[in-house]
Amino acid sequence: MIDSSAYDRALAELGYSAFRAGQRETVETLLQTRRALLVAPTGGGKSLCYQLPALLLPGTTLVISPLIALMQDQVSALQARGVAATFFASTLDAAESRARLDALSRGEYKLAYIAPERLALPGFRERLKRLGCPLVAVDEAHCISEWGHDFRPEYGQIGELLAELAPPHVLACTATATPIVRDEIIVRLGLPADTPQLVRGFARPNLALRAAEVGGSRERAARVDALLSEALFAPGAGRGAAIIYSPTRRMAEEESERLASAGWKATVYHAGLPADARARAQAAFTRGEAEIVCATNAFGMGIDRGDVRAVVHLGPPGSIEAYYQEVGRAGRNGGDALGLLCWQQNDLPLRRRLLEAPGGDAQSDPEIVEHRWNLFLELIRWADGAACRHDAILRYFGDEAETLHGCGRCDVCVAIDAVDEVSVEEATQLARKLLSGVARLQNRFGLKQVVRLLHGESEDRLERMGLTQVATFGILRERSADWIQRALSRCVTAGWIGFSGDLHPVVRLTDDGVAIMRGQRAARWLPPSDAASKKPKESR
Ligand code: ADP
Ligand code: ZN
Repeated sequence: MIDSSAYDRALAELGYSAFRAGQRETVETLLQTRRALLVAPTGGGKSLCYQLPALLLPGTTLVISPLIALMQDQVSALQARGVAATFFASTLDAAESRARLDALSRGEYKLAYIAPERLALPGFRERLKRLGCPLVAVDEAHCISEWGHDFRPEYGQIGELLAELAPPHVLACTATATPIVRDEIIVRLGLPADTPQLVRGFARPNLALRAAEVGGSRERAARVDALLSEALFAPGAGRGAAIIYSPTRRMAEEESERLASAGWKATVYHAGLPADARARAQAAFTRGEAEIVCATNAFGMGIDRGDVRAVVHLGPPGSIEAYYQEVGRAGRNGGDALGLLCWQQNDLPLRRRLLEAPGGDAQSDPEIVEHRWNLFLELIRWADGAACRHDAILRYFGDEAETLHGCGRCDVCVAIDAVDEVSVEEATQLARKLLSGVARLQNRFGLKQVVRLLHGESEDRLERMGLTQVATFGILRERSADWIQRALSRCVTAGWIGFSGDLHPVVRLTDDGVAIMRGQRAARWLPPSDAASKKPKESR
């Protein structure tokens, strides 16, 4: 067993004075159970979780990483701290590559980073086998998943490599949370099914998240302007910066012009601009000459500006993962920051068409289209949801431990806090009625059937089971079926209703849901307004 002063020494060797939340536990779990999957956001400090064990364990740790630039950065940082590290990638010339291989064979490195395509080279794997590595870390492990957004065929060989090397420890790291991807990582790396999945560090309590359904571009512009004044105070006030993400290049340009004419120091960044224009925009933003950058999702990798006070999305990105990664660029220095996601009903058919378009990024594979579509729907459900936005995101990532039972900052928490006692009581009663419908049908039926039961619509199966005679039948008869449907999805986002079964998901109450139904706890949520059931429109 490794004593705790060894941890502290290794930490200091890497140049850190303390662990971040979860890092120590991850290292301990890895050393104890020998296999682990670490799920943490980008920038969450995953690399320490293999670098530190690499220092503690005898021999050379291998790190498989798909991004040469990041690999180089990490190796330089380690070398600067006096840690023997190197990397192998196609960018090396033959002589350099040979010299490094020889040093590797002599056991001179504590860490060797490897681009996955190297694994196909004859002889390379043989050498690795002779090394007897104590730990293999697979960074960006979701690249192994065909479901993921970043599939890399070269990652397919890693499972074989692990089988050949049979290293004592394996750590897979990813920022992708979808359960289907996580499970696929475990299967394709050949890890045991009970490999611990550590989900860490998704909480960003300094971010106040908001989502607004807007009717059109004018309403959206008003929202953006209000948010910018709140976050940055006034054009040129030097109170930090904002990033505005646009779904299209054209929209980014138009928004940048609109804001510039309002006096903001705005610049534009997207992949359609020449390289020098992109470099200029990025430099202006990093150096503080521009206070707002209007960009597509091409902007982001490696931006180093801690004082981003606001991240606005003019339209929804493809998933909660993508959204959270982008909005997470606000408030990096720990200061208060705002996130605003604008969306419209129209975004749904738009996204669907984009996914189905031939040559689109789902490659017209119907299964992938469905998978991506569901990722998108999760984001829209979150945006339309009426429970704490912070908690709902953490639940999505499976990071329950960090939920706050209301962050007190997001638009939903603020709205709930403004509501009077009577309305809280009413909202709780409504939730109890909705949840009692779920309790009646749980583990047998899906949400649609719950709607019928609560709305009091007679139906064969309900009748056969005697459910048209129970008190819950028609308990929300005075509401529209559409309202009940919306309210139930809000209960899902709030974490009170869960699903089991893959093919035909059936509903069940979560522990929180049971507590609320039994009246042991008030339901902190905003039921949909009655108007919303006819015409989906934001009234705030
Ligand atoms: P990830 O791989 O999860 O995207 P990194 O490992 O690159 O994240 O870490 C992100 C940043 O956080 C790096 O700049 C790293 O130096 C820093 N960092 C990681 N752990 C600590 C720590 N315990 N104390 C201070 N800084 C840390
Ligand atoms: Zn909240």
